[in-house]
Amino acid sequence: MLNTSRVARCRFAALSCVRTAPRLNRLMQPDKNTFCSTPFRELYTENDGSFIHCCHAVDTESVRFFENSVKDSQGTVFNVDTVKDLDSVWNSEFYKTLRQDLIQGVQNPLCKHCWRLEAMGAESPRDSSPFKDLDLVLDSDYTVTSGPEFVDLKTGNTCNLKCIMCHPANSSLHLEEVQELRHTGETVPSAVAVSHKEETNMRKQIPLDFLLNNLDHDLKNLKEIQLHGGEPLVTKKALEFIDNLIAKGHSKQIKVRVITNLAVCSTEIFHKLEQFQSVELIVSWDHVNPKKNSFIRYPINHARFLETFDYVRKNHSFDIKISNTLSVFNILDIEEIYDHFEALSQDQALAVTTNIVQAPSYFNSQYLSQSLKRKICDRMPRWLEQNLEYKIFRTGNCFSVLSGIPNFVSYQPSDTDQILKEQEKVLAVYDKKRGTNSQELFHFLFV
Ligand code: SF4
Repeated sequence: MLNTSRVARCRFAALSCVRTAPRLNRLMQPDKNTFCSTPFRELYTENDGSFIHCCHAVDTESVRFFENSVKDSQGTVFNVDTVKDLDSVWNSEFYKTLRQDLIQGVQNPLCKHCWRLEAMGAESPRDSSPFKDLDLVLDSDYTVTSGPEFVDLKTGNTCNLKCIMCHPANSSLHLEEVQELRHTGETVPSAVAVSHKEETNMRKQIPLDFLLNNLDHDLKNLKEIQLHGGEPLVTKKALEFIDNLIAKGHSKQIKVRVITNLAVCSTEIFHKLEQFQSVELIVSWDHVNPKKNSFIRYPINHARFLETFDYVRKNHSFDIKISNTLSVFNILDIEEIYDHFEALSQDQALAVTTNIVQAPSYFNSQYLSQSLKRKICDRMPRWLEQNLEYKIFRTGNCFSVLSGIPNFVSYQPSDTDQILKEQEKVLAVYDKKRGTNSQELFHFLFV
């Protein structure tokens, strides 16, 4: 996947400037069309213990996990189990080549997720504004001398939900379901049909100590940890990790961000989180209609979710953000959903981050019928225009992502007929297995 001649060039450059590598020429402006600050500041892990450069590193077309992991110059994947020091990952040729490409205007294939969205005129998560001290921390061989400021820690795939667009790599319940389907000889939906090797990787118990052990050297500039699952607020290992950070006195210096479905029974964890410098909760919430939300985020108890959401907002001074993921199941209800989020933001600030499902293809809204897509293209700009004053549009990315939706849905994939047939079959499999009724909730998918 990497351009090997570029790797060779970069390795030569690295050898020639050991210790005395000059800083990047201050006059050199990163190319706005490709630059992204993520690989200059952030390090991510996966549930198999490998490292990735970004949470969007999974190939949205093949939906193969663990394929874009950070590798050493021999092509061996770095793993938290065996890595000697984090700098060997952070300033590996893999990272340096990616940084060089993003600065020099090359669309590195590792960032295919963003290039695809941008080619369709949709908003991508790429952060193209160079950060303030970029030229102070970046050497001419694309080493970032300061270490990552942000680490995303995958705490395993243990999860209490199996959201319909999720994957066994991120949900143990999905993995169990796949095994049950196989056992009974039923068709496993293609996007979750994991190989034996992937399954073994998903079951690995990943130690989180590498982060604690590096806080005094390679991670001395760490400002923020993001906990990701599965569901980190119910994962034993994640809870132990939180306890360790508190016990060792690190929590007061670190901001923690938790990606959560908030389907938790105990509120004790929220009191523990108070021990951190600051807390951001990114709460996944896809629909305001209880039945539709439970179908998408299966099998969430929507009423209990609302109680917990309300409890946390009233009792803790956390920065709470909603993460809303748009798919065929909710894109036609954007007005209803975002009007509700806006109503919630009246008493207390609330940011909304919007994500768009690209994979599984059969839940990607580009595969809706032409008439439904036309409806979205007609309604969306009008509704946005009428509600420009919404508070939720002033923060988060929701306004820009929603503005790009007409462009996104207008794209007509060439495999539409095949994917729609698959969608019908997949929904039948899930309805039978989960006891849901997709026809009743989403009749427009069946006309
Ligand atoms: S360009 Fe996109 S995929 Fe690449 S690091 Fe940035 S956000 Fe991630």
